[in-house]
Amino acid sequence: MLETDLKAGAMVRTARALALALGLLVSPAAQAACPAPLALQILGSGGPIAEGARAGSSAIVWLDNKAVLLVDAGSGAFLRYGEAGVRFEDHLAIAITHFHADHAADLDAILNSGGFSARTAELPVIGPSGSDRFPGMRNHLRALLDPQTGAFGYLAGYLDGSEGKAQLLPVEAAPDRSTVVFEDAAQQVRVTAIPVEHGVVPALAYLVEIRSKLIVFAGDQNAMSDGFVEALAGRRPDILVAHNVIPEGEGQPRGLHRPPSSIGEMAAAIDPKLLVLSHNMQRALVRQSEGEAAIRVHYQGPMVVADDLACFAP
Ligand SMILES: [Zn+2]
Ligand SMILES: [Zn+2]
Repeated sequence: MLETDLKAGAMVRTARALALALGLLVSPAAQAACPAPLALQILGSGGPIAEGARAGSSAIVWLDNKAVLLVDAGSGAFLRYGEAGVRFEDHLAIAITHFHADHAADLDAILNSGGFSARTAELPVIGPSGSDRFPGMRNHLRALLDPQTGAFGYLAGYLDGSEGKAQLLPVEAAPDRSTVVFEDAAQQVRVTAIPVEHGVVPALAYLVEIRSKLIVFAGDQNAMSDGFVEALAGRRPDILVAHNVIPEGEGQPRGLHRPPSSIGEMAAAIDPKLLVLSHNMQRALVRQSEGEAAIRVHYQGPMVVADDLACFAP
């Protein structure tokens, strides 16, 4: 090692010690938390392919600096959850849009982490009801947590509140109509699930009414999800989170996702005050200017492409 390197290393250590002494060094978590009392934070802005610095789909709704709602816990969300300074104790509910791994794979990791917290209060965990191909939330939790057959049966205390765990209360949304799946009058939080079309996968969008604001998570949905747009008639969300998964053009899995032109049509009909594009996959990002032009044909309002840990105040 060169002498200059040694000197530089010593200087960094000295500066760090000084900063620590002055209380200036904050943890990455404190740096990553959203500053606004009511905020949407995208924890994971990516999709199912490991292709860069984006975790799978996941978001937090912050209220009074508490992470009251976790929406999706896709692959990689666990890390962002820690970086954002999220506390398991603060959740009023967890809502999963559907059981693709890029939306649900880190739920078990987050529950494992939460097992080290002091939380004992019951926790509603919301998701779709099952089909012949996919489990509903109840069976998903059983598959993870059942003491005999669960993949992580050692966490079975979550099923009944034993062993100092918070009891999880599975809530399954109706497959064919909008359902209020969570309500906390004191906190002025209400969550409504709306079934959306996502191939054969039972999938949900979520409307989060919080204080006087409305944040809408469109979830993974294809262009045939007319019921979703109709359910928002007469509402004007402060934020609409839509998924930027595929580029315009042929050869894309349109049975699963809206192409940019369809995102534009949806946004034009719903008219959010801010459109946040998340679930950003490389195949869409490499043609992003073309995609945004296709959206802009229909929707001219504010729009932003989210990165991991990005904050938005509604
Ligand atoms: Zn999906
Ligand atoms: Zn997805």
